[in-house]
Parts: sequence; C-alpha cells; structure tokens
Amino acid sequence: MTGSALAGDSKYDVVFIGGGPAGYVGAIRAAQNGLRVACIDAWRNRDGKPAFGGTCLNAGCIPSKALLESSELFHRAGHEFASHGIRVNAPELDLAAMQARKAGIVRQFTGGIDALFKSNGVAGLAGRGHLLPGNKIRYTSHAGEAELLEAEHVVLATGSTPIELPFARFDGEVILDSWSALDLPAVPARLGVIGAGVIGLELGSVWSRLGAQVTVLEALERFLFMVDGQVAKDAQRQFKKQGLDIRLGAKVTATERGPAGVAVTYEDASGRHVLEVDRLIVAVGRRPNTDGLLDPLAGVHRSDRGFIEVDDECRTSAAGVWAVGDVVRGPMLAHKGSEEGVMVADLIAGRHGHVNYAVIPSVIYTAPEIAWVGQTEEQLKEARVDYKAGTFNFAASGRARAMEQAAGLVKVLADAATDRVLGVHIVGPMAGELIGEAVVAMEFEASAEDLQRTIHAHPTLAEALHEAALSVDRRALHAINH
Ligand code: NAD
Repeated sequence: MTGSALAGDSKYDVVFIGGGPAGYVGAIRAAQNGLRVACIDAWRNRDGKPAFGGTCLNAGCIPSKALLESSELFHRAGHEFASHGIRVNAPELDLAAMQARKAGIVRQFTGGIDALFKSNGVAGLAGRGHLLPGNKIRYTSHAGEAELLEAEHVVLATGSTPIELPFARFDGEVILDSWSALDLPAVPARLGVIGAGVIGLELGSVWSRLGAQVTVLEALERFLFMVDGQVAKDAQRQFKKQGLDIRLGAKVTATERGPAGVAVTYEDASGRHVLEVDRLIVAVGRRPNTDGLLDPLAGVHRSDRGFIEVDDECRTSAAGVWAVGDVVRGPMLAHKGSEEGVMVADLIAGRHGHVNYAVIPSVIYTAPEIAWVGQTEEQLKEARVDYKAGTFNFAASGRARAMEQAAGLVKVLADAATDRVLGVHIVGPMAGELIGEAVVAMEFEASAEDLQRTIHAHPTLAEALHEAALSVDRRALHAINH
C-alpha cells in the first residue's frame, strides 16, 4: 500500500474515500475508464499495517469463509466420513494452523489489490480522507502528515462498523465483535451470540462445528424474517439438528463480566433468564461509517441514522460527490457496493451505468447455505401478486445424495399471469453458487418456462432448480406433483 501521494499528484479526476469492495472496485473501473484516480483508505490490521479491501477482505467475507470451509471439513471428518466408508481416528483440531491459513488467504487478497491498483494506475493512499467544501479532500497519512487533494468527483465509500450495545461493550477478549470473533485463539466451551442474523449464524456455526456449545439469542419471534418462510423453517430445523441452540423472542437486556466469562440477561415470553457463557459475540447489525467524514459546509446530507442520502444513481446532495456501498441505503452486501462503485465510475466517465436493485442475490454461508434473489412468498402475498410456486427437495437430487448433503429445498416463484420468475429461494448444498443461475434468469426477465426448457447437466445440484421450475406448473419429473 502506497504511503502518501507523490509530490505534484494532488489533482485527480476522481478520489475514492474508502477502499473496501465498493471503493477499490470503483477505483479500478474509473482508472479503466481513463480517469486519474486516487483511493484513500484508513484500514490498519492488528499488526498496524495498512491494507486495502475494507471489512470484506480483512475482517469479514474472506476470513469468515476461510474458517467456514475449515470448520466444515473438520466437522465432516468427524461426523460424515464413516458414512462414505472412510474410517479415520477422531480428527484433531490445530486451530493455530487453521487461523494461519485464514491469515494467509487474507494477505494474498489484500496484496492483490495493491497489484491491481499498480497495474491500473490507481494511487493508493493509506490514511484518512475528510471531505471539504468544493470537492477538496484533506488526506492525512497514518504518520499524521496532511495534504490537500482536489478532485472533479469524490466518491464516499467508507463502509460500516458493528453496532455496539451499551450494555455489552466490545472488549476484544470476552465480548466480541465480528472481527475478534474470527480471531479466537481457542474454542470456547460455551459461546453466546446476540442476534440470529447473518453474522450470528455464520460465526455461531463456525465455532459450533469446532466444538463449542453455541446459544444464539434473537429478539425477534420469527427466525430469519427476511428469508422466505418455508426456507427459513427448513434451515431452522437443520440448525437445531446440528446442535445450535437458537432462542427466538429472546431480547438481551444486560451483561455482566465475571472472572472467566459473562452472564447474559435476556427476556422472553416466559420471563427473565440468565445465560452463562465463556465468550459472547454481539452481532446486532452494522452502522455506516460517516462520523468525522464530512465538513458541515461540504453540502452532503446524512439521514438521522448516519447514512449518506443518495438518488438511484448514488449522487449525494453535493454536486460531484457520490456515495456507494454500506454508507448508503440498501442491503449491506459487498457485491451490492461493488456494483454501485462500478456504476458511479462509469457514469462519471460519461458511460452508461446501472444497478438493478430488484435482483441482488443474498447468501448466508452456513452449512447448508441459504441463498435467495427476488421476492419471498410472504412479500408476494402482502403485495397481492397472483403467483405460482414450485419446490423441489434435495432429497430427490442424485448429486446431493452422492454428496451426503441431501437436506433442503429449492423454491421458484413465478407470476401466475405472465410466468415471469419473481423469486428463487434455496437452502441446501452450494446454494450460494446455485443462486447465480437464478440471478441471471431474473436479470434477463426469464419465465419459469424458460428455466424448464433450459438443459441442466446430469447429475448436478442445478437440476434441483430445473425441477423446482417444472414444479411451478406441476410438471416436475422426479417428484410427485401435488
Ligand atoms: P443483522 O441485522 O443481519 O442481524 C442482527 C439481529 O440481531 C437481528 O435479527 C436483530 O433482531 C437481533 N438483535 C438486535 N438487538 C438484539 C438484542 N438486544 N437481543 C437479541 N437480539 C437482538 O446484522 P448482522 O448479522 O450483525 O449483520 C450486519 C450486516 O452485515 C447485515 O446487513 C448483513 O447483511 C451483512 N453481512 C452479510 C453477510 C453475507 O452476505 N453473507 C455476512 C456478514 C454480514
């Protein structure tokens, strides 16, 4: 990562403030468009070294997926190999080696951004950016040297940070945010998680597979309220079977640190309870990183909750200032931020730019994965859309059976009048990969019949999507049509 701008390099066509998946991807595209680009990023890893990639590469998507994969293999070696006819002694966990592999992957990818910046001619600046009036940016390096940059366009992409509960402050040791929860040096015997959202479930299942007794406390009564109800129910059943103790309608109201762990007080319909755990992960959402970013005279409006207000094409209230990713409305997803970064970089260059907000895939990387795109059955009912639904269980998929991962289902929802696909929902093996086909289908406004008439290789997991599309018209070939 470059330490500071070179002398005389203080004028740019575009300056990105923030180098996570929204900012660094946008910066690369802007440079590809022939613009003179700088990208400022303040991230520093535990060793104090700066790195591009933001939460996603350093403390989120990439390290968590590394641990999810490792913990899944550990679990399967202990619980599944025998059913394949492979006898092994009880697998032994070398957590230090697992963590080192994870750290190596992160290093490789953040280093990869440096190389991409270099080859595209993006000036990478380690330090903080502060937006001043008139599209000027005060850049302060980590060494404390300040420099004034000027840009035709500024793109704010400073991401988000975990929300802290006033009664459960992060201490990096016992009460953990999502980053610290990836770095535990030992498997806690009893792990508590506040929030059964995406992060709570992903991290809860990592440590559960490595041997922790995991209890997840969720304030809402409905499990995964944003997920299609049928899929959420199926996932909940599977997680329960795996030993995850998910308590719904359980609102945490207090915590108290003891000598070894923490006592977590929560309230549910039956009253007040106290849960004793050795470590506690707080995963109750994220908030945008916009404090201290904007000079009040820069003219950029923020919402009450700190989000930067933008139009459909990510323009802020100040001319030439844009904002993308977790600091603006919409789901806090890396791929959504990246697409916004690309859109803005193309619009600035006078090209066509577009994000289809109706077709953003979501994936929860548990085992099995949960993935979806478009509308849920509940949303269609509420909007009074006349729809047809088709489902197919992985139990009838030859490939899923061969993989010993035949739990879960695929569901396709299509408009009753036009047959257009309105939503696809999956819980099962490789759901995050399978959803890609549904995303392309919806992007091209496919009908269920289009999916029905598309040849799917046999034997693959994707056949389950084909069969679910056939089931929309009660024409599934490998299931009884009800
Ligand atoms: P979330 O909003 O997904 O879930 C937080 C949960 O905490 C909610 O269900 C909420 O009801 C519950 N909660 C809040 N206060 C509580 C309390 N006092 N007691 C009990 N429960 C309480 O938030 P997250 O899991 O922290 O994730 C943050 C963001 O990061 C989300 O926008 C998510 O989409 C994104 N993210 C996505 C991925 C992915 O795409 N795979 C992975 C990680 C994070």
